Amino acid sequence: MKHANIGIFIPHLACNHSCVFCNQVKISGHESVPSPDEVSRCLKSAVSRLEGRTAEIAFFGGSFTGLDTDTMTEYLKAAYPFIDGKTVTGIRLSTRPDYINNEILSILRRYGVTDIELGAQSMDDGVLSLSARGHSAADTERASRLIKENGFRLVLQFMPGLPGDSPEKTLATAEKIASLCPDGVRIYPTVVIRGTKLASLYESGEFTPYSLETAVSLSAKMYELFSKKGISVLRMGLHSDIKAEDIVAGPFHPAFGELVYSEIYKNRFDEAMMGKNIKNPVFRVKKNELSMALGQKKKNVSYIEDKYGILSEIICDDERSVYSDAIAIPSIH
Ligand code: SF4
Repeated sequence: MKHANIGIFIPHLACNHSCVFCNQVKISGHESVPSPDEVSRCLKSAVSRLEGRTAEIAFFGGSFTGLDTDTMTEYLKAAYPFIDGKTVTGIRLSTRPDYINNEILSILRRYGVTDIELGAQSMDDGVLSLSARGHSAADTERASRLIKENGFRLVLQFMPGLPGDSPEKTLATAEKIASLCPDGVRIYPTVVIRGTKLASLYESGEFTPYSLETAVSLSAKMYELFSKKGISVLRMGLHSDIKAEDIVAGPFHPAFGELVYSEIYKNRFDEAMMGKNIKNPVFRVKKNELSMALGQKKKNVSYIEDKYGILSEIICDDERSVYSDAIAIPSIH
């Protein structure tokens, strides 16, 4: 059975921070803040259109648990009646690490919240400070521990390439995030959005985002790291519905995840070739991953040709009987 997210965006509500990268309106694409009644009406309509799918209600876009307790409870009360444990299985929400405590968690549990996503952004205090996050890596560690101890599923989001970041610090952040044992992560390489402090820093030459190539290469390494530890990578790259005119600079690509999967395959082809003198290898990959293994415009075939000076072939599992000595490459998913 297919699963859907019914997203409710609450931009900037309750937020008195000014993170350099943030323009919630542009990122979420929603300019108005819904009332609890509107949330209820929207959920009623969305649930009636599920047509056999299961769903979660998702409060995204702001710092949900930073709302005053009454307002937060009103939103939860609007959503709670739709949770039946079968069709609508629970509520997920996103918030800041410093907006989590035992009292908040007990309210969330009472109203059917199952998954909490924390905007960790980085586990380097220098990067957090330069990004004006207003919380430390220790806050993320403490909040993550509380969330898990209280039986919620934990998702950590982070943003490689913020001010002061470097490839080494990004990989160290990924290691620290993995050590917190989240159920999932979302990797959002930093993109400069119009109307943010980061856009001013970029325009004045004080900030340079990661190139697309760097962001893809780092994301491939981090994907492998999380996968080995059994941590789901739920998302890589900003959502493609962000308007092109709102992007000032940075490693945005509408199919960012696909680029990363191709990079992972490229690395796996390298591993398969390492230390061996193979002439004209035939690599065998899972059928539904063939296009990512080939890469855009068969980029990975050209890569092998350029690097090793040999022609290679990438085939899908189906053809294994024809190529009995094909080299099996482990699948990504
Ligand atoms: S990222 Fe979150 S905490 Fe930071 S300014 Fe935006 S809404 Fe506020």
